[in-house]
Amino acid sequence: MLQFDQLSFWEKESYINHTDFLVVGAGIVGLSTAIYLKERNPTKKVTVLERGYLPTGASSKNAGFACIGSPSEILSDLKHTDESLVYETIEKRWKGLNNLFELLGKNQIDYQHLGSFELFRKKDQQNYSNCIAQLDDLNQRIGDITGISQTFKSNDNAINDFGYQGFQHAIEQSVEGQLNPAKMMRELHLKAVKNGISTLYGINVQGINQQNVITNYGPIAFQNLAICVNGFASQFLPDIDLTPARAQVLVTAPIPNLKIKGTFHFDEGYYYFRNIGNRVLFGGGRNLDIAVEQTNEISLNNKIQTELGSILATHILPNTSFQITDSWAGIMGVGQKKAPIIQKVDDHIYCGVRLGGMGVAIGSLVGKELAELMSN
Ligand SMILES: Cc1cc2nc3c(=O)[nH]c(=O)nc-3n(C[C@H](O)[C@H](O)[C@H](O)COP(=O)(O)OP(=O)(O)OC[C@H]3O[C@@H](n4cnc5c(N)ncnc54)[C@H](O)[C@@H]3O)c2cc1C
Repeated sequence: MLQFDQLSFWEKESYINHTDFLVVGAGIVGLSTAIYLKERNPTKKVTVLERGYLPTGASSKNAGFACIGSPSEILSDLKHTDESLVYETIEKRWKGLNNLFELLGKNQIDYQHLGSFELFRKKDQQNYSNCIAQLDDLNQRIGDITGISQTFKSNDNAINDFGYQGFQHAIEQSVEGQLNPAKMMRELHLKAVKNGISTLYGINVQGINQQNVITNYGPIAFQNLAICVNGFASQFLPDIDLTPARAQVLVTAPIPNLKIKGTFHFDEGYYYFRNIGNRVLFGGGRNLDIAVEQTNEISLNNKIQTELGSILATHILPNTSFQITDSWAGIMGVGQKKAPIIQKVDDHIYCGVRLGGMGVAIGSLVGKELAELMSN
């Protein structure tokens, strides 16, 4: 491929030179940041650089849960994090989802409000009892954010209705839904291009200094830079509290008369499944091999894939024959605190990273907040 200095005058002027805002990473955060930067600064040149031919982190590889948190996930977060930050993050998830719907439209991203459940096995009995004991309080706190009076309610009948085995209790959730992440990213890309943003794929940023980034095709100068590479951020920001966390999922072939509809979580959110039409997507299990999964290598972990297949057969699709047609992995960014980092890191250099397993919900809002910070 040609280096930038071999490009025509026209190409250099259009794509490479005079970049006011340069964004690294074309995931949900990078593209949203670019869209809001252009909205706030319509005469400025905004360019996004992405090293993959598609976004190659998590944004089009995720499970498509549009979620604000299950009861056991919230109670677990409250054990490790300040209460105010936990509810601030839930509020960001709620506002972020509404922001995403406003930005792209629910139909365009196949959003479906099919309901959501947290499931509990026999060994989760203590956890379930804790959740039930605190359900009124959780409903009150979340109601203050969403205006919905009863977000969670106990509904054990769901276990038989969906034909599950090995689960004893279910708590139904009224706020969450599911969407198609690849359509979400395609819509963001189309919106960016329509608004005059250059999105350049196949460009790997290898280094950053005060005025330019070094790429595999040469340097690009910038006035302001946004680092939106989430789980890959330690290459540029070695000192921030962020660790890569691999997550993986599998999908079955279509299953005739599939009863499962909606999104489901168990084990404090470590496992999750949903229907995609009449297929089942099942993911998680990072806690089975947590040290090995602290990697930004996009490959499958056989131990986790085997366990996912086994739980699918025994608990989720008992007495149903199924075939697994697809399995894949993606990379998230996590840290000590379960909240995004949106900050200035140096003169003219900013970042929006550490989205954890919440990027569908908060990603567009993180982009909006980062664009506001960079524009002020
Ligand atoms: C399997 C899986 C399931 C998930 N399920 C859900 C879910 O159901 N709901 C939910 O809310 N969240 C879920 N998540 C998390 C969610 O997908 C992420 O939080 C979100 O996509 C993060 O978006 P991002 O834009 O910050 O990062 P990314 O989507 O990772 O984008 C960062 C981009 O930066 C690019 N990049 C990295 N380094 C460079 C470089 N040097 N030069 C150029 N480009 C670079 C990468 O290629 C990548 O495209 C899941 C994640 C995974 C992996």
